Amino acid sequence: MTTATAPALPDVLLPGRLFIDGEWQDAESTETFEVINPALAEPCTEVAEADSADVDRAVRAARAAFESGPWPDMTPRNRGRLLWALAKRLEERKKEVALVETLNNGKPLFESGIDVNMTIETFEYYAGWTTKIEGATIPVSVPGQFAYTRHEPVGVVGAIVPWNFPLNLASWKVAPALAAGCTVVLKPASETPLTALLLADVAREVGVPDGVLNVVPGGGSTAGEALVKHPGVDKIAFTGSTAVGVRIAKTAADTVKRVSLELGGKSPNIVFADADLPAAVKGAIGGIFYGKGEVCAAGSRLFVESSAHDQVVDGVAAGTAKLTVGDPLEKSTRIGAIVSEKQMETVLGYIERGKEEGATVVAGGGRADIEPGYFVEPTVFDGVTNDMTIAQEEIFGPVLATITFDDVDEAIEQANASPYGLAAAVWTSDVKKAHYVAHRLKAGTVWINTYNLYDAANPFGGYKQSGYGRDLGKYALEQYTETKSVWVNLR
Ligand code: NAD
Repeated sequence: MTTATAPALPDVLLPGRLFIDGEWQDAESTETFEVINPALAEPCTEVAEADSADVDRAVRAARAAFESGPWPDMTPRNRGRLLWALAKRLEERKKEVALVETLNNGKPLFESGIDVNMTIETFEYYAGWTTKIEGATIPVSVPGQFAYTRHEPVGVVGAIVPWNFPLNLASWKVAPALAAGCTVVLKPASETPLTALLLADVAREVGVPDGVLNVVPGGGSTAGEALVKHPGVDKIAFTGSTAVGVRIAKTAADTVKRVSLELGGKSPNIVFADADLPAAVKGAIGGIFYGKGEVCAAGSRLFVESSAHDQVVDGVAAGTAKLTVGDPLEKSTRIGAIVSEKQMETVLGYIERGKEEGATVVAGGGRADIEPGYFVEPTVFDGVTNDMTIAQEEIFGPVLATITFDDVDEAIEQANASPYGLAAAVWTSDVKKAHYVAHRLKAGTVWINTYNLYDAANPFGGYKQSGYGRDLGKYALEQYTETKSVWVNLR
């Protein structure tokens, strides 16, 4: 089977340029890099490649926009109106943006549509917050004194995001940062810079003041690291792998930057025999294979109570075999192309490792027979033990590890036996058991009888090595504000 040719990209991406201080700019070095369409394994455009000199220009622009000019003087109401306008313009350009996301990331078009919808929702949600970031009066016990707090914007935010939800995860940083009154330098992943540039284009169209949002595509160890080191950046908001998160936290410590980290996961999806099993089977399939398994919260470890093993595993294997892998532009496609050749090789390596360590393949098991892109069959392993590599390491691809258990506490113990703690799910019709398990799982999100639900109002983030800080909801705003105590002598 072969994939079709790709539609053209919007002019603004031909080629893509850096967006600094309200203007499209070339890199000072004039270097560019190729952006690959993974479904065709060929370049779709090139983009200017930022290095430390360009990051410095972007940070200076963001600093100037934060300290002077229209941004600090803009009323919260008008800042909210601007965020709302950005959401509305994005809605008007939704089809175009979703198409670009698919051409760049390889995910099916319907998934890109969901990403853009969530991005719109995130900007709408934070548009409403600009007028509600309130301090408090504090009942201090010092005679004759009045004290109150102000929640002031933290300053210049460096946002660094990965390639799996390029636009949506950018919005999880940019929207609350702008709502709080910060300015932003956004560095998208070098694999997927295109929708971040479209976001800049939308911001420009609706009149976000110059320097308030800057976008600097480039490498992690070059542009990314320059942003983390830059003394003009007050806070780094990072989503990505745990290894890079650790490095960022160490580097940021030199300048005592505020840091929030949304990192990797190896999320347990626990199915008890008393669950609605057809629903659990569906949830297990969606939990791992949505987004090709390139999802931080993917339910990559499926724990099944032994008495339900055959029904669940047979159901998951049969359902997985029916998932259509192929051209992400086709309506029927459920599994698109893996984001890059490198990531495809990593995923295939883990599949081989699972076979070597003695797990049994019950669905998929290798590269899909589709040329010329990077396609992997959705793969289900049975007979996995929690100490196997495929149960411990984040694969970040369409690979499910099934583990059998016999009682509730054993399931909880194994589910928690992971360095990660991002998300988890439990399937049961016993309400006491559901909450007992939900309370004991060490995870930032627990779904009961469902999987993969997100909402701009609901916080998301990790326990343990899945990171610290929370995106979304009112909690995210805390990360973009400093609390100032003001004392007034009334005597
Ligand atoms: P990655 O860590 O390799 O890269 C993420 C970003 O960091 C990219 O923009 C990259 O260029 C940049 N980067 C790399 N090295 C850097 C450095 N030394 N200094 C500064 N920036 C640097 O991750 P990825 O491969 O793009 O994405 C996959 C990972 O992201 C997975 O581990 C996944 O679980 C995680 N993720 C987490 C969440 C979450 O919310 N917890 C969401 C999505 C993805």
